[in-house]
Amino acid sequence: MPAPQSKVFVVTGPSGVGKGSLIGRLREVVPGIELSVSATTRAPRQGEADGIDYHFLSPGEFERRAAAGEFLEHARYSGHRYGTLRSEVEQRIENGHPVVLEIEVQGARQIRDSMPEAIQVFIAPPEVASLRRRLESRGTDDRTAIEARLRVAEEELEARGEFPYEVVNDDLDAAARELEAIVRGELSE
Ligand code: 5GP
Repeated sequence: MPAPQSKVFVVTGPSGVGKGSLIGRLREVVPGIELSVSATTRAPRQGEADGIDYHFLSPGEFERRAAAGEFLEHARYSGHRYGTLRSEVEQRIENGHPVVLEIEVQGARQIRDSMPEAIQVFIAPPEVASLRRRLESRGTDDRTAIEARLRVAEEELEARGEFPYEVVNDDLDAAARELEAIVRGELSE
């Protein structure tokens, strides 16, 4: 039986919302929590190291592993493949460590089905809420213009309601504290 501490946390949300920075903060303050290193077919960026930032795989290798059932979830994102290797998560759980996954929404949905006990946190940008408030209270744009502007932002955020926890990354320090509180709360249960 897994140790009570070995919970799986999924941090999801639109790309560029700050998931990585928030997880970085989380790892500084929650001892023992470990990041699952994802696999990807995209090329390493400057400063990224294989096995640390990602497992960088060729497309052929990725598909071979997918066909062999080695992924807990996998998705296509902006022309590349991304996936969570079962071994990344299972090893850490066996060692009694809480694990955090940083993944996009399609992958988070798969985890919801395959690992319903995982705790999912959606990270949202502040723009939609604040934009709506600003547009409506200003009262200068007509309804159609307001709705058209909001539609683009909302499309990206359509998935937010699917997740039990949401953190709005308005201020990095505040958002990091919120995420920490969620994780500590779940770990103390
Ligand atoms: P990037 O190329 O910027 O590192 O990542 C692009 C997107 O893929 C980000 O939203 C990131 O969170 C997501 N991502 C990273 N690893 C995984 C993974 O293992 N599975 C899924 N589904 N998405 C991932």
